[in-house]
Amino acid sequence: MPATPAWPPKSLPRLFVRTPLSDGASIELDAGQANYLGNVLRMGPGDELLIFDGSSGEWLARITESAKKRMVLTVGRQTREPENIPDVWLAFAPVKRTQTDWLVEKATELGVSRLQPVMTQRTNTERVKLDRLHAIAIEAAEQCGRTRLPDIAEPISLKLLLSEVSGRTLYFADEGGGEAAAGAFRPGPAVILTGPEGGFTDEERALVRAAGNSVAVSLGPRILRAETAALAALAAYMALAGDWR
Ligand code: SAM
Repeated sequence: MPATPAWPPKSLPRLFVRTPLSDGASIELDAGQANYLGNVLRMGPGDELLIFDGSSGEWLARITESAKKRMVLTVGRQTREPENIPDVWLAFAPVKRTQTDWLVEKATELGVSRLQPVMTQRTNTERVKLDRLHAIAIEAAEQCGRTRLPDIAEPISLKLLLSEVSGRTLYFADEGGGEAAAGAFRPGPAVILTGPEGGFTDEERALVRAAGNSVAVSLGPRILRAETAALAALAAYMALAGDWR
């Protein structure tokens, strides 16, 4: 398991690009990124930055052309290999927009490998805007030094989730009680499941507890808000079974 990125972070700007990267490649940035580097950071030809494409690690690049809404980079040496992200998914019942945005940003920083929205009986959010969540995850990955982005999956029902995660340990954050989080998480492919603001129904709790791969986990004596519970569980997983060890 690799160490966490060096601290303090390098001062070079760091951007995700959709083009596959290799030594010597020429990359044209999109208009938003060109505007950010050129007009916000006042960067121009000769200036350096770090870029990553989500699969080939991180690369040093130099600006070789700069116009009003256009910027071209030449890729230099690789600065980091792609890191191994712990194989942990966060299956969460979407909450209000601001809280869901916050959850996606923080879970990306914490190192989640997949974010899986789950529609439960008490979920009162009709739509999840995946494009928006992707953009938030990209920004968080740029900021925290990830070289891989988390997958952000289409929302699914709780029943479908249970059938799709049979090969993983399903850590079920159950406000009704369970194994103390301090000892519950063990290395191996995992999914952490957290409920909506109104919690899981008794029927859902019984369904999840009946799954052969589920472990009910308690996050302590207080009832946490849904997004707090999701991130607390993920942090506990990272400390006990992920890349904080
Ligand atoms: N049903 C609760 C109520 O109305 O009082 C609130 C549910 S809580 C806001 C949302 C979700 O966070 C729960 O479904 C559970 O997954 C998780 N959660 C919150 N506190 C927890 C705790 N102490 N232990 C385990 N899970 C917790």
